[in-house]
Amino acid sequence: MSDYTLKPCPFCGGQADIEDISNNEIEDDEYYMICCKSCGASACFGDYSITKDGAIRKWNRKVEKDVDN
Ligand SMILES: [Zn+2]
Repeated sequence: MSDYTLKPCPFCGGQADIEDISNNEIEDDEYYMICCKSCGASACFGDYSITKDGAIRKWNRKVEKDVDN
């Protein structure tokens, strides 16, 4: 699926990676968010999703918005 291609970090151009931030001790839901391996930009991209696909789409959308500015 091409949807699973992560755009590079808009801050440093580094490679982004998907992180499983599920807390299974509290709930059964899964949570994923994207963070940058180089600068740790996950703090600026605080959105998370319960699916990998959703997290990737949110990240890509934000990256595109940043580039447009
Ligand atoms: Zn970065």
